[in-house]
Parts: sequence; C-alpha cells; structure tokens
Amino acid sequence: MNAFKPHLRGLPSYPYKKVEARIKLDQNESPLDLPPSLKQRALERLAALSWNRYPELHAEDVRVRLAEWLEWPFEGIVMGPGSNLIIQGLAQASNCVLDTAPAFPHYAFSAKIAATPYRAVRLGERFELPLEGLLGAMEGEPGVLFLPVPHAPTGALFAQAEVEALAEQAVRSGWLLVLDEAYHQFSGTDYRPLAKANPNVALLRTFSKAWGLGGIRAGYLLASPEVAAVVQNLVPPFGLPAHTAAILLTVLEQPGYALERAQATALERERVYQALLEHPTWRAYPSHTNFLLVRTPDAAAAFAGLLGRGVLVRRQDHYAGLEGCLRVSVGTPAENDAFLEAAFALAEVGHA
Ligand SMILES: *Cc1c(COP(=O)(O)O)cnc(C)c1O
Repeated sequence: MNAFKPHLRGLPSYPYKKVEARIKLDQNESPLDLPPSLKQRALERLAALSWNRYPELHAEDVRVRLAEWLEWPFEGIVMGPGSNLIIQGLAQASNCVLDTAPAFPHYAFSAKIAATPYRAVRLGERFELPLEGLLGAMEGEPGVLFLPVPHAPTGALFAQAEVEALAEQAVRSGWLLVLDEAYHQFSGTDYRPLAKANPNVALLRTFSKAWGLGGIRAGYLLASPEVAAVVQNLVPPFGLPAHTAAILLTVLEQPGYALERAQATALERERVYQALLEHPTWRAYPSHTNFLLVRTPDAAAAFAGLLGRGVLVRRQDHYAGLEGCLRVSVGTPAENDAFLEAAFALAEVGHA
C-alpha cells in the first residue's frame, strides 16, 4: 500500500489504553456528571431538535453566547469537537511547532501527522519554565508555541511575568503563543487580558474538565479575528454536532456550577497533597490543576498495586524527566480517600 504519505506510515497510536476499575482517576475528568436539573434541560433541548438537519456551519449559536459571556469578539472564537481538533488545526497551519518536554502529548502528535517541524525544550528539574531556551528557540522561523497554563502533565503554574516575556518575544519574532487553559478553573488564572492586548497570544479552552462534559466533546480557541479565520478553515464545516451545541447552550445558561466545582476540587487536591506528605516513599508535586503528579520508586509496581486495590491512575514514567511518576486525578472525597488508603497500604506491604 502506497496510498499514504510516508511520514504517516507506522506512526504509534495515541498512548491510551482503556482499563476497567472501581475508581477511575486516570483521565482528569470531573468525578461528577452534570447537575441533574441541567441534564434534564439539555435532554429537553435535544428532543426539540430536528435531527435530520445539519447544525450551524461554525457553531454560530454557541459562539454568540460564548462571545457575550467571555466578552470576546465573536470573530475571534473557533469551536471544535474537543480542543484536540483545534490543536491539530493549529499544528497543520503553522511553519513549526514548539513546546516543552514533557507536555500534553497531542501537540507533538499533531505536528507529526501534519509533517510540521517540531521542537521541544526540557522543563527544569523542578518543572520550571525553560524561559531562556524557549526565547532562543523563538529566534528561528516563526511558528506556534503551545504552553499549557497551568502545565500538564506536571501541574505546575508558571509565573505570569515569564508568560508575558514569551508573549513579548512572540510579537518581536512573529510567533503565535497558544496558552492551553484546559485547567485554568483549578488555578484561578485567566489569560484573557494578555490575549486581548496581544494578537500573538491565543487561548485554548475545553469543556472536558471543569465543566464535567468530557463525553460531549467540545473546546474552543480565543484569538484575534485574523488568527481565528485561518484556524476556522482547518476545522471541518458543520463540525460541532447539533447535540453538542444544544448541551453547551444549556450549560452556558447556568455556568456557575463549573467554577464552584473547580474550587471544591482544588480544596480536595490540597487535602490529598497534604496527606501524601506523610507517605514514606511517594512524593507529590504541588499542583494547580485537578490532578497530582506523584513520583514513586517504581511506577509499574505502584500502578499495578493501586489497580489491584481498585484504583486506576495514569502512568507518566514514559516521559523524560518523569521517571517513576504517576498522574492521579482528583476525584470525589470518597474516591480520594480510597486512593490514599491504597497508597499507604502499598507502602506498608513494601510494594511502594
Ligand atoms: C484534557 C486536555 C485538553 C482537552 O482536550 P479535549 O479534546 O478538549 O477533550 C486539552 N489540553 C490539555 C493540556 C488537556 O489536559
């Protein structure tokens, strides 16, 4: 078979394997489904839709509502069925892709499938932003720099002054700095003021985490109208399904629950972090997200030990610099207790 471009043959697939477990802390999802009253309203909206009809061309109905709620120009919003597809569009559009190592793996994967040159700069020992390295890399041909803020998969939050230094360099050298705010509700940060003042900065957001809508598939880009116009062309027409739009319009009538839940999750995250300080061999890193990165002496043994006790987490030890690391989503208080209990029980039997 020679139908495909050579660079696409034999690519490894996305590193995710479904595993059944009683307690699922592996995908940074919200542990809670939509509030029941909202879900009921969404179902009524779905029933009233004509399923034989195409949805809006570019999710105009949702973008009008988002524009009003976020005080962002309508022309600068691009919707996608998950922000992953927008990442792919950005990678396809750009001369080159730059990110940090480690980082959310879909940036590198998107560059690879688009055959866009890709480079990563290693984070510091304690996951500090490699500012000098990034500024240096941005002296080259301009492209897109993806930076999760707060950072995934480390949970670190970079200083605003450092992010602003990257934004200034983006202006000087013609780059687009894309701040991926997938977890911003858990850190309480919001880079809209920077992005509004600087057209070389765009923001990426998702409904998959704080909103509790991972199954619905929706994310969006906030950018200048010029940047949005390019990215919009790389997202398929009628790409946001009518049912997704109906559910988004429903939650956007009552968006307060997402922030309330994110704040509760942040408190739980701190409780779990504090509890892990007592663990004899595991070390959690400070986090500003809805997950904790935990360094263990042996990631394979820790993962298997937790799973044997019904707790599913995500291994991260395949990333350079994350040897021994697991990523644990913050769940309900009961789920977090079950994780902590298993973590300490493993230490007791010498398996961690
Ligand atoms: C979860 C996550 C996303 C969300 O992707 P969707 O396709 O919108 O579900 C984006 N970026 C980062 C860093 C994430 O962790």
